[in-house]
Amino acid sequence: MSLVVAGSVAYDGVETPHGRVERMLGGAATYISLAASYFTQVRIVAVVGDDFAQDDADLLAGRNIDLEGLERVPGKTFFWEGKYTDDMNDRVTLRTDLNVFADFQPKLPESYQNARYLLLGNIQPSLQRTVLDQMKHLRLVGGDTMNFWISDFRGELLKTIKRWDFLLINDHEARLLSGENNLRKAANKILEMGPHTVVIKRGEYGAMLFRHDAYFIVPGYLLENIFDPTGAGDCFAGGFIGYLAEHGFSLEGDHISRGMLSRAVIYGSVMGSFCCERFGVDRFRTLTREEIDARFEEFRKFTSF
Ligand code: AMP
Repeated sequence: MSLVVAGSVAYDGVETPHGRVERMLGGAATYISLAASYFTQVRIVAVVGDDFAQDDADLLAGRNIDLEGLERVPGKTFFWEGKYTDDMNDRVTLRTDLNVFADFQPKLPESYQNARYLLLGNIQPSLQRTVLDQMKHLRLVGGDTMNFWISDFRGELLKTIKRWDFLLINDHEARLLSGENNLRKAANKILEMGPHTVVIKRGEYGAMLFRHDAYFIVPGYLLENIFDPTGAGDCFAGGFIGYLAEHGFSLEGDHISRGMLSRAVIYGSVMGSFCCERFGVDRFRTLTREEIDARFEEFRKFTSF
């Protein structure tokens, strides 16, 4: 079933211990859409400037991602620059230029409004709300956020996530949002904010899903070389909701099984791990569904006992 993905489509400058790229395709919606495109039909909502390259649009279209909701306006595409520390678990943001995103008023094409699944990638919480308001028949909505919005737009953010089924967030941000250091307490507090499901991402250490009735914890996939973790969290989100959309699952009601929840988290982890194997979105130029399913099986083996 089709999935609408809103968020940034960006150019990124990234430095890791493995190298530096001054400008490459990035953005939360880009990573989410690429990852989810292996599971379901994706329709993207974002804005880019007139500097957005045709090759980059072609990469997305080549994965069958619907670009009708990708507006092009005069000006510059969102730009973000970050640098990773040696162990790659931390990064500093050196620059965030919203550019054309500063005045973006998302207007969803007719064909998007009936989609059943919505993933709100990292972007201004007010924009996330505007997109949600235009959806008519949602089965499942969730999203992501980051420290920038948690610290400086807290009120807006709380109003926004109140209406979500699930929130994906990394461990630092879960602490920042909840004011709790202990992740279990943090998750419980976030579950009081609206979402009935919260997934805390812990980078190379894996991920944890919490609900009032269940929890599930998965270790990270141990890559020998992490080239560039940028977008891994977004790819996790794409794999997670992509799997649910592929099977028409919701996260409410009686039919939710532990197996379904854990498979969604594992597909998220698989997609996050592939993302780190190359710089930027490069891994998605060659990745196949067979490779994804093979790694999913590998996860099953190394986590079962
Ligand atoms: P991740 O590594 O999963 O957190 O995602 C990194 C991506 O998020 C990069 O490609 C950036 O372009 C994008 N990004 C970084 N900061 C922001 C922001 N404030 N709003 C929207 N997107 C952002």
